[in-house]
Amino acid sequence: MNTHGMLIDYRYCTGCHACEVSCLNEKELPEGEWGIKVNEIGPVKIDGHWMWDFVPVPSDRCDCCIERLEKGVKPPCELHCLGKCLEVLSIEDITKRLKENPTSKLSVFIP
Ligand code: SF4
Ligand code: SF4
Repeated sequence: MNTHGMLIDYRYCTGCHACEVSCLNEKELPEGEWGIKVNEIGPVKIDGHWMWDFVPVPSDRCDCCIERLEKGVKPPCELHCLGKCLEVLSIEDITKRLKENPTSKLSVFIP
């Protein structure tokens, strides 16, 4: 049973792609594969305002870096995230954070 998951707060993603690159380095994935991919939505004009969203999405290659966690080391995607919007947490802590922030743009990935 999975004990950890990734909590992603889309409000603060800058689209820097540091998560993608640091994961590729860590996992040494072949070309065309990724552990997390930053998707771009937009630019689109809504009610006169330009919107451009960045949406990081983990893939089935993401294991939440459990081996690193067991050594007390955070995953590289989390360490390099400029927006501080990725966190790998225990399921209990994720549940707590979701209850504390019911209306924010939070998403959960559990491998
Ligand atoms: S937790 Fe590890 S495997 Fe998952 S996206 Fe981050 S660096 Fe990649
Ligand atoms: S490292 Fe963080 S801020 Fe940069 S693209 Fe990934 S999730 Fe967004």
